Amino acid sequence: MNKTVLITGSSRGIGRSATIEFARNGYNVVANYHSSANEALKLKNEIEKFNENIKIFKSDISDRNQAENLVNFTIDSFGKIDVLVNNAGIYYQTLFTDVTLEEWREIFRVNVEGVFNCSQFAVKDMLKYHEGKIINVSSILGMTGASCEVHYSASKAAVIGFTKALAKELGPSNIQVNCVAPGIIDTDMNKNIPNDVMQELMYQTPMGRMGKPSEIAKIILFLASENSNFITGQVISPNGGFVI
Ligand code: NAD
Repeated sequence: MNKTVLITGSSRGIGRSATIEFARNGYNVVANYHSSANEALKLKNEIEKFNENIKIFKSDISDRNQAENLVNFTIDSFGKIDVLVNNAGIYYQTLFTDVTLEEWREIFRVNVEGVFNCSQFAVKDMLKYHEGKIINVSSILGMTGASCEVHYSASKAAVIGFTKALAKELGPSNIQVNCVAPGIIDTDMNKNIPNDVMQELMYQTPMGRMGKPSEIAKIILFLASENSNFITGQVISPNGGFVI
């Protein structure tokens, strides 16, 4: 029987690439989107040419009810949930002294509470079958921190702590929880970073380039596969050597 994956934030970037990668590899896929219905529909149409087991579902993962509906939709559609990819996230740069309490709370609501919401509902299903995989998308900034990105770095560090603790709790239930912490990846998320800053970042990256969304998607696919059955609680950081 096909395995089922739920991927959050699928309409573009890393989530879109991961959705295509899982679909190509024969998974049943539920692709979550937040506001970009047209992009999500385009993705669905593209995937249906080679895999008809693709469904899209609108949900704001930071809203607990919507996250629960998303997980329930996945289970109702395909019977169970084998893999959860917590990919959705928000990012922007702000001087620490300018971060408002509402901005701080918003970034934690999406980047941390969203991961908590989807994981908690999905785990309840995974426990029934004594197997499952959760892959969280953090960031190198969750490992190193970065100036003007205290709010984002703190939220992504929380995802790493979450991954490690949940891996310990769910190991005995044969559920693996891992984390991918990418370096700079060529997606819309970075489109507001000024050119000179981007040049400097590339200079500091030994491989001298940004990563491609597909390069992250392939690591996520590996962590979802049986080849990673003895890997849990780990942080894999595809970053072109930016952090060694
Ligand atoms: P992106 O901005 O292209 O994609 C983020 C996706 O998350 C979008 O589809 C967006 O709609 C979705 N999203 C945002 N808030 C949501 C919500 N409340 N509910 C549901 N979906 C929501 O960026 P990306 O680069 O593809 O980022 C994917 C993940 O990778 C994020 O968690 C990001 O923090 C992380 N990341 C990205 C980079 C990078 O350089 N691009 C580096 C490290 C980590």
